[in-house]
Amino acid sequence: MKILVAEDDLTTRSVLKAVLTKWGYDVEAVEDGAEAWACLLREDAPKLAILDWMMPGMDGVEICRGLRAKDDPLPPYIILLTGRGKREDIVEGLHSGANDYILKPFDNEELRARLLVGGRMVELQDKLYQAVEQQKKLALTDSLTGIPNRRAILEHLETELARASRKGSSLWAAVLDVDHFKQVNDRYGHLVGDAVLKECAERIGRSIRRYDSIGRYGGEEFLLVFPRSDGDLEIQALERIREIISEEDFVAAGQRIRITVSLGAVRWNGADTIDEIIRRADDALYLAKKKGRNRIEYFE
Ligand code: GH3
Ligand code: MG
Ligand code: MG
Ligand code: MG
Repeated sequence: MKILVAEDDLTTRSVLKAVLTKWGYDVEAVEDGAEAWACLLREDAPKLAILDWMMPGMDGVEICRGLRAKDDPLPPYIILLTGRGKREDIVEGLHSGANDYILKPFDNEELRARLLVGGRMVELQDKLYQAVEQQKKLALTDSLTGIPNRRAILEHLETELARASRKGSSLWAAVLDVDHFKQVNDRYGHLVGDAVLKECAERIGRSIRRYDSIGRYGGEEFLLVFPRSDGDLEIQALERIREIISEEDFVAAGQRIRITVSLGAVRWNGADTIDEIIRRADDALYLAKKKGRNRIEYFE
């Protein structure tokens, strides 16, 4: 494990570096607060730090305060190592955000034990963070297709709408619905239906531009978001999506299945809310279904 040692006193710094290296730590030793601060701000900053209180540049307590103010989800575990042993000092040091406090002259075995506690805390914090990130990701992903789920694509539409509004750029949205999908389920079974939905998501995902997005809006409905758009390109992109589904049969469980989709598209008029955008796209989709499916209708 990497560890930062910030200590202006050469002797203490050398002793610390020697014992920490002997215990297996990868030591980065610096001699003032400014260097320590710069080190702790790095992308690959050590997650354990031993900071002296009194140092030139920035003192250890200032560094602790600065780190806590940053509100980093994975802050380093900080041990203040200092000659200031008055009760008020200890209280101030811990209040500033240090995780632990060791008085000089320090006892090697005690320091080692406290570092092990710190290492355990860092590992625990890291595991928790990974678990939370994983949960966040799952909460925004559709489990069948692996694409953004309804909540995620709506959030994305909201973000893009705010951006378009700020920049005065345009935005398209489209609702795509698989035609007669109930018949696919009825004829081939639900699992084949699932495989078809998965492949729909894959085919569409492959055909859209990098900054366009697709999410699963409902059962066999997908929501497409085209930001930074230029009307003609969007119409071509939607046509390509329709074709990429209909032009080649789907193969699932040994069956060749012809699938078509209908789309309702809308270009944001600069004023509509998300609900209105989706309602207009839905209206256009309804028209596409009414006019015979396997087609795109645009809300005028
Ligand atoms: P239309 O062309 O008018 O859209 O007809 P449709 O049959 O596609 O429309 P309908 O809304 O009647 O049926 C949608 C079907 O999609 C019904 C539902 O069972 C199925 N469905 C929804 N979610 C899933 C899913 O996750 N997996 C499978 N296999 N089927 C699903
Ligand atoms: Mg000092
Ligand atoms: Mg539907
Ligand atoms: Mg349908």
